[in-house]
Amino acid sequence: MQRHLFRKSSFATFVAIFCIVLSSTTFAQKSEGPQPVPLPASVPTPVDQPYAGTISLSVDLTNVNDRILNVRESIPVKPGSMTLLYPQWLPGTHSPSNPVGELAGLNIRANSKTIPWLRDRVNMWAFHIDVPQDVSTLEVTFQYLAPVKSQQGRISTKIADLTWNSALLYPAGFFARRIQFSPELKLPNGWKFATALDVKSQNGSVVQFKDVSLNTLVDSPLYAGVNFRRLDLSTGQGNHVYLDVFADKPEQLEITPEELRYHKDLAIQAEKLFNSHHYDHYDFLFSLSDSVGGKGLEHHQSSEDGTRGNYFTDWPAGISGRALLPHEYVHSWNGKFRRPADLWTPNFNVPMQNDLLWVYEGLTDYYGNVLTARSGMRTPEQARDAIAEIAASFEASPGRNWRSLVDTTNQPIISSHGAVPESWASWQRSYDYYPESDLIWLDADTKIRELSKGQKSLDDFARLFYGINNGSFVTVTYSFEDLVKALNSVQPYDWAGFLRARVYQVAPNVPEEGITRGGYRLVYNDTEPDWVKHMDKSRPTSFATSLGFSVKGGGGGEDGDEDGGGPPGGITDVQWEGPAFKAGVTPDMRLLAVNDLAFSIAHLREAIVAAEKSKEPIKLLLKREKEFITITLDYHSGLRYPHLEREQSTPDRLDTILAPVK
Ligand SMILES: [Zn+2]
Repeated sequence: MQRHLFRKSSFATFVAIFCIVLSSTTFAQKSEGPQPVPLPASVPTPVDQPYAGTISLSVDLTNVNDRILNVRESIPVKPGSMTLLYPQWLPGTHSPSNPVGELAGLNIRANSKTIPWLRDRVNMWAFHIDVPQDVSTLEVTFQYLAPVKSQQGRISTKIADLTWNSALLYPAGFFARRIQFSPELKLPNGWKFATALDVKSQNGSVVQFKDVSLNTLVDSPLYAGVNFRRLDLSTGQGNHVYLDVFADKPEQLEITPEELRYHKDLAIQAEKLFNSHHYDHYDFLFSLSDSVGGKGLEHHQSSEDGTRGNYFTDWPAGISGRALLPHEYVHSWNGKFRRPADLWTPNFNVPMQNDLLWVYEGLTDYYGNVLTARSGMRTPEQARDAIAEIAASFEASPGRNWRSLVDTTNQPIISSHGAVPESWASWQRSYDYYPESDLIWLDADTKIRELSKGQKSLDDFARLFYGINNGSFVTVTYSFEDLVKALNSVQPYDWAGFLRARVYQVAPNVPEEGITRGGYRLVYNDTEPDWVKHMDKSRPTSFATSLGFSVKGGGGGEDGDEDGGGPPGGITDVQWEGPAFKAGVTPDMRLLAVNDLAFSIAHLREAIVAAEKSKEPIKLLLKREKEFITITLDYHSGLRYPHLEREQSTPDRLDTILAPVK
């Protein structure tokens, strides 16, 4: 999965759950008060055994007007009790996030009779049934009700992202790879589609796919739509890569030769990096849309990608989000093919453990950004600005004083448990295992280059660790010890100590050694980086490194929009212990005026620059509920945009890392 590179978002409240284990002696003498009711019989544990028969799955995608998928399954069964599961833990989301609340109309029939179902009282994704003696097949029907509000869901009247995990139930008690499905899809008339699945036959708008295991089916989503273009990014006969673009409008499919070159170079540079691939053919499923929401979700032989409609038509506007495709592509090697052992689960209803996400996501983020530069999608300066921005955002976020990086790998689970958005994200910390790991892996990469006197690099580790079993997409799991062993075989060093100090211990200092060893230092000035110049105006603008807050600009409506920005002037985040925090600004305020003139982003910037010279305080008029509040900020350090500045005394290792591999 990809999180927005610049500025942390989607924060959730940290909830500490303490388990109190009562010893048997405590129970020996019962205390006063209620005693617990025993939990009901649990869901069967998955076993590595074949499920008898093939499940026929038919998904009707024609009702895109109402965003309703109609699902029909024929499930071969034996008489007796059984449990059907709706997938809960989805690989790539690292959380129990599949929205079972959007399943409706569940009806189970056999031999023309309805069979009652009972949802498990503890596990909301499990449905218990008793199969009668004379029944050998269940006919299951239900709907998946996709979100209807624009930008919230992934289905519109022009584009649909079909995730099979939304549209199936499967029997409990078996490994997902041992359950066979025969999938069929009915498309709206005239729609085209793309998927990593192989087609068996097509009759008009009904497509029958070859039988697949549940494992592969859930890992092989499908994009469909009205406006479609398939671009060939293959590097040669043995490495087939495609960019399957779906757009709201046909003109959004137009790509310049230069843009196509960048995408082809992405495939070439990834091949040089990993010296292998783990797919038959790889399909970037890519939606360019302002009606369906953005997405980045990895799969073995494809990825679900989505961004704004102007991806090709306004190329400079996309600098900040440019690492989307490189990030998801790297996941085919790191995350899908090689996976932390405790993140691999036998089916989609067994909890995952996230403690190695700083490798799964963190190293992917690092190489996603590196490949974005090596492919030319970002200039070297833009790539350095991206690193500067990450380091600067941590310098302005003191949450590292109390919370280790490894603890942030729990964030997907914490956030998916209905927690309210974080009020003080820079203190609470969020999905920091993405950007902070960028800095740690840069540290490791430059360390290998320094110790080996330029003979070795992290690329050697990438080839060693991910380049095994070329062509295979059977997942190979690993542990922390395996990782350390591989690093040591590339360049002997105390890698266990290096990683434990930065990841597993509370480490208040921002890990910037990779920047300095790379031949640069972090500086702040008033020069706008390219990504700020071309920023999406509807997103909150960050003043985190200056005044210490983020604020919504003019984009979006008076009531705000779905990116969490709120109305214009809405304060979206306040840096803990920053200038605004100390003056009493809180994230529920709205900025109305700056120095007695109506608020705009441009005017606020001008006021910050003016205060740098005049040494006059900046006067903010804010509103909270019905109260108007005037706050003056005695701040004179300018806009403080982060950049990397060359330090001539150290070899420019960073530029070597970011340059295309010949
Ligand atoms: Zn990811």
